[in-house]
Amino acid sequence: MNALQPLDILRDTFGYERFRAPQDEVIATLMAGEDALVLMPTGGGKSLCYQIPAIARPGTGIVISPLIALMQDQVAALRQAGVRAAYLNSTLAPSEARAIEQQLLMGELDLLYVAPERLLNGRTLELLAQTPLALFAIDEAHCVSQWGHDFRPEYIQLSILHERFPQVPRIALTATADEPTRREIITRLGLTGARVFISSFDRPNIRYRIAQGDGNAREALLRFIREEHAGEAGIVYCLSRKKVEEVADWLVARGLPALPYHAGLPAEVRERHQARFLNEEGLVMVATIAFGMGIDKPNVRFVAHLNLPKSIEAYYQETGRAGRDGLPADAWMSYGLQDVITLRQMLEASEAGDEHKRVERHKLDAMLGLCELTTCRRQALLAYFGEPLSEPCGNCDTCLAPPATWDATIPAQKALSCVHRTGQRFGVTYLVDVLLGKTDERIQRNGHDRISTFGIGTELNAAGWRGLFRQLIARGLLAVDLEGHGGLRLTEACRPVLRGDEPLWLRKDVRPARSAKHAAHGRTLPPGADHALWDALRARRRELAQEQGVPPYVIFHDATLMAMMEARPHSLSTLAELPGVGQRKLDAYGEAFLEVIRRHT
Ligand code: ADP
Ligand code: ZN
Repeated sequence: MNALQPLDILRDTFGYERFRAPQDEVIATLMAGEDALVLMPTGGGKSLCYQIPAIARPGTGIVISPLIALMQDQVAALRQAGVRAAYLNSTLAPSEARAIEQQLLMGELDLLYVAPERLLNGRTLELLAQTPLALFAIDEAHCVSQWGHDFRPEYIQLSILHERFPQVPRIALTATADEPTRREIITRLGLTGARVFISSFDRPNIRYRIAQGDGNAREALLRFIREEHAGEAGIVYCLSRKKVEEVADWLVARGLPALPYHAGLPAEVRERHQARFLNEEGLVMVATIAFGMGIDKPNVRFVAHLNLPKSIEAYYQETGRAGRDGLPADAWMSYGLQDVITLRQMLEASEAGDEHKRVERHKLDAMLGLCELTTCRRQALLAYFGEPLSEPCGNCDTCLAPPATWDATIPAQKALSCVHRTGQRFGVTYLVDVLLGKTDERIQRNGHDRISTFGIGTELNAAGWRGLFRQLIARGLLAVDLEGHGGLRLTEACRPVLRGDEPLWLRKDVRPARSAKHAAHGRTLPPGADHALWDALRARRRELAQEQGVPPYVIFHDATLMAMMEARPHSLSTLAELPGVGQRKLDAYGEAFLEVIRRHT
C-alpha cells in the first residue's frame, strides 16, 4: 500500500494548506513511533495532531475521550471528511458494538474513539491485542489530575497502555496549562520519555471585556447581544440555577432565542437543549458551569458572565469556549458590588480547611485584580499562567478604551473611617447612607447621625460610593462578615491608606459604552459583506446538516463559508482551494454550494 504523507492528508482530506506550529513536529514525533505531550489552547488544532498520524500509520489509532457527546461529534466530522472512524461507548447497542469490533479486527478503521472505562475492560484490551495499532491518543489528559475539577479515576489506570503495548506511540493532549497538572500527566501516564510541546495560551481572536454593572447587568447583556451578536450563538454563565432560569425567561420575553441549562434540570431536557444549541444557529444558552466541557461547537461567538468566576483559571476555561474557529469572538462580563460580596462570603463560610481557603482566597484575589485592572487584560491573564506578552494586546476593553484612574485616597479614608466609627458591622447600603448624611430612623436610633463621618461624603453619589466600596473589598482593604449579613470590617491591609501613608488610585467606573450598531450579523462578517449570500449559504448548510443528521459546522465551518463569500468560486476546482474543503466534502457538497453562489452573482 502506498503510504500517505501527513501533508497530503492535511490537504486532501481536511482541505487545509499548511500545518500550524507545532502540529507538524508533533505529527513527526508520532510518525517516528515516539510519545508526545501536547499543551495547546482550545481551538489550537489538537485533533489533527493525532488524526493525521492515525491515518498515515499502519493500523488503527485509538482515541481515549471522556465525553460521549464530543466523541460522536468528532466521528461525524471525520466521516464527513471521508475518514474511516467509529466509536465504542455505552450509547451503542450490543450488536452495533460488535459490528464496530469486527471492523476493527478487519483493519477497516483509521480511528476508533473509546471511553476510558470501555477501554479498560478486559474484552476491549483483548481486542486491541489482536489488532495492529497506529497510536493511542489520550484526549483531555488533565482528567488524570486528582486536583483538577475534571478528575476521572479511570484515567489513572491508563498507564496500563504503556505496559501492555510498549511499541505503540502515545500522545496526551490538554488545554490546561499549569505546571502541576503537566507534571501529574507525565508521571501518572508514564510519559517521562515524551516530547513536550507547549503552545502559547493566548487566544488572540477573543476580545476580553469586563464592565462594572451594578444592578443593570441584564440590560447591558441584552444590549450587547442585540447590538453585537444578533443571530449568533453564545453562552451566558450565571452562578445559580435560579438565576439561569430567570435570565433565560427574561431574554426569551425580549425576543431572543435562549434556553436554560443547569444540573437541576431533568437529563432529557438538558440533552435536548444541548442538542439544539449544537444543531441550530443563533441560540443563546444560559447556563451554570455545568454546561461547557465537551462543547466543541466552533462558532460560539460570545461567552458572557453575569457573575464573577471564582478564579482566573475558571474564567479562562469558560471564556475559551468562544471562537474555537479562530474568528472574532467576545468574552464579556458584567460584575458589581454584590458579586464581590457573595464570593467573599461563600469563601469565608466554606467548611474547607485553612490551607485550602488560603489558596482559594488567593485565586479570588487574582480574579478580582483582573477585573479592576487599568492595564491590558490579556497581558495580566497570560502573566497569571506564566506567559509573558511584551505589548498590550489591542483587543481588550482596557486597550481599546483606556480607563481613567482617579486619586481615591481621601474618599477611601472617609469610607474606611465610617466603617470604623459605626462599629464594623454594617453593610454597604447603610454606610453609604451615613456618608451621604441621610437621616433614617435606623441611623438615628444607632446615633450614627452624630458621628464625625455623617454626611461628609458629598463628593460622590450613591453609585460612586458603592463602586468605591466594591473596589475596597476587591482589594482586600475591607472584609465581609462571616455571618452573611454583608457587614464590613477593616483589615490589616487598609491601615496604610487610612493613616495616609499610601495613596490609592482606582479605576474610574464607567457604564458599559454603547457599541456601534452592527446590523443583524454580529462582528463575524467583515463590513460591506453580502448578508443575503451569507444567509443563503448558511441555509443550504443547515439543509445538508439536517439531511445528514449532523450539526451544521460538521458540513463546513463558518470560516469556509466566509471564504466562499470572498472568493465566489464558480467551479469545483476553485472551491477545492478554500480552507476546510477536502476531497470528500467537495464531492458531496461542492455543487450544492456552487449553486447558491451562482444564484447570488
Ligand atoms: P482543539 O481540539 O485544540 O480545541 P481543534 O482540533 O478542534 O482544536 O481545531 C480548532 C480549529 O482549527 C478547527 O476548526 C480545525 O479545523 C482548525 N484547524 C486545525 N488545524 C488547522 C490547520 N493546520 N489549518 C487550518 N485550520 C486548522
Ligand atoms: Zn489588551
